[in-house]
Amino acid sequence: MKIGVFGGTFDPVHVGHLAIAQAALDSAQLDRVVFVPARRSPLKDREAVASADDRYSMLVSATKPEPRFAVSRVELDRDGPSFTVDTLEALRKEGDLYLILGSDALSDLARWKSPYRIRQLATILVARRPGAPDLDGTVGAVVFDAPCLDISSRELRARAARGLSLRYLVPDEVWRHIDRRGLYR
Ligand code: ATP
Repeated sequence: MKIGVFGGTFDPVHVGHLAIAQAALDSAQLDRVVFVPARRSPLKDREAVASADDRYSMLVSATKPEPRFAVSRVELDRDGPSFTVDTLEALRKEGDLYLILGSDALSDLARWKSPYRIRQLATILVARRPGAPDLDGTVGAVVFDAPCLDISSRELRARAARGLSLRYLVPDEVWRHIDRRGLYR
């Protein structure tokens, strides 16, 4: 079983995340991709804006149409900051792990807890992200063929705060959830 592990804050999940996960399924022939929302990202200087429950619910509805997508609560249900190495240790018995990263996250990896162990536990799959360092000459990671989408959760939160719609930037169910709950206003 080849399992993609896709961690993030997902505050909110957007079409960039989903398109990358789909591309990883296709280009690395993964059996499934597990989205792992972080309780708290150790390297982000602020807490997530939406609650863990909201971020989890949005991911569940966003991933529902693809049977090979799943959402894990492993980081939400664990105390303290969310370290990827602990998540990989928890998931390793399920199959061969492939850690999916955007190129901005790849350049942070050296600052994460136990980067060497992370590389032992998972093959790193990296997607090009606009504005992030170039991936030419990347070693120790597989650059996969993903669409290059210039979209971020931060930009979406800023749009919502200005009263603008996130329709078509996030799945329909997600923008309805954001609207109904008045998130990011
Ligand atoms: P924020 O803007 O709040 O920092 P984000 O959009 O970067 O959020 P995260 O949830 O922090 O989203 O990202 C989770 C993972 O998805 C990271 O590995 C990140 O590099 C990757 N990612 C997110 N958006 C894109 C994108 N448009 N292209 C490529 N990778 C992406």
